[in-house]
Amino acid sequence: MKKRTLESSEEFIQNAARHYGWVANPDTEFRATIAEGLTTNANRFGYYLCPCRDGDGDRDADADIVCPCVYAGPDIDEYGQCFCGLFLSKEKAASGDTEVNQIPERRTGN
Ligand code: SF4
Repeated sequence: MKKRTLESSEEFIQNAARHYGWVANPDTEFRATIAEGLTTNANRFGYYLCPCRDGDGDRDADADIVCPCVYAGPDIDEYGQCFCGLFLSKEKAASGDTEVNQIPERRTGN
């Protein structure tokens, strides 16, 4: 993977949000913090490991928590946000309440 920058990660975030019908958290400061974590992880591991979780550093073991993780869809459906709060449902974003909450970790057995 070519070296990731904050800008390329931000592009990735916007593309993913568009692709899945979500909204990237409009709080630019918050989003930049997550984007920075994603960038660091991508350059360290070679993939966008979720910055809110502890991975193994092994692509196969971490496959479910490569952003956008497999839990994002169900979490956004149920809570209006992904575990990190990087992605929001359109409904939550439209409500103006974009506060990120601590939601239960859907990932088990790790
Ligand atoms: S919780 Fe999932 S979708 Fe949200 S930032 Fe982490 S890996 Fe990406």
